[in-house]
Amino acid sequence: MNSLTENNNNKAFYPLLEGSIVIPGDVIGEAENIKSGSGTTIVDKKIIATTFGILHYGRERKLVWVEPIKQIKLPRKNDLVIGEVISSGSTIASIKTWFIIKKDKNSNRVIFIQLEKPFSANLHISQLGIRTEALSKVIKIGDVILAKVIMNHTLPLNIAINNNLLGIVAARCSSCGAPLIKKQGLYCEVCNRKEIRKISSLYDYEKFMTLIKTYKPKRYLVMELE
Ligand SMILES: [Zn+2]
Repeated sequence: MNSLTENNNNKAFYPLLEGSIVIPGDVIGEAENIKSGSGTTIVDKKIIATTFGILHYGRERKLVWVEPIKQIKLPRKNDLVIGEVISSGSTIASIKTWFIIKKDKNSNRVIFIQLEKPFSANLHISQLGIRTEALSKVIKIGDVILAKVIMNHTLPLNIAINNNLLGIVAARCSSCGAPLIKKQGLYCEVCNRKEIRKISSLYDYEKFMTLIKTYKPKRYLVMELE
């Protein structure tokens, strides 16, 4: 084994990238040529994470350490959350929130942390940022939504989608169930028709449906949000 500062070697022995999320017990890499910093320990010549957090490498990859992530008990005002629409009526939609989004200061990544348990949230028609006669015309059951928490200490949470970033990020056609694609609004290629939603500028069916369906059982993941 040569210098760990070479990329190829780093890939071989340190598959975890700067900014990866680790949980206690995760194998970070071989303990040769790199020091085990805070939040890690050495077991059988391997560096193992002892903390739930974000992985960082020191200068020239001589050191590896884990910055702890605090357990999130309850989303707070201004936190961004991702959830599924459970019901949608004329003035209120009910959402089950699964993830909270945090920005990692050191790497340029957005971290989706699964909430300890999913929280219910209410979205009122006054928090849409657009006018509509009924909330159910622009938010539908099964939609995946990116929203902002607007009040501290309320349950259900109170959320808003009143800017371009916020709104529906993944949706299916309400008549055939096919994924809707973004094309001057949302469009079903099977039915050849438009569907109305209050969409987010980040709308991406694959990305967000994968997040919800595949990663929901996991505790967290890291994604790039361009
Ligand atoms: Zn359709």
